[in-house]
Amino acid sequence: MKCDRCESDYAEEYFKDKYTNEIVCLDCLLDGCETSTTTHYMLDGNYLGSDDDINEVIENICDYTSFEKVEEEI
Ligand SMILES: [Zn+2]
Repeated sequence: MKCDRCESDYAEEYFKDKYTNEIVCLDCLLDGCETSTTTHYMLDGNYLGSDDDINEVIENICDYTSFEKVEEEI
């Protein structure tokens, strides 16, 4: 079997479009998806938040640990 898009013939999985009969490999199938690169932060089993709101994560880390933000002297 061969992917119609990238022509790879070594992929483990192929998918066939039931309407157009196009064969695509797993990589090409996933290529059409939007990916999320959100990083989730946990500390000792406590959910701190994601990098969508890094300030919340930082606040939570300071709540759970003895760290506190250093206010820079201007
Ligand atoms: Zn492909």
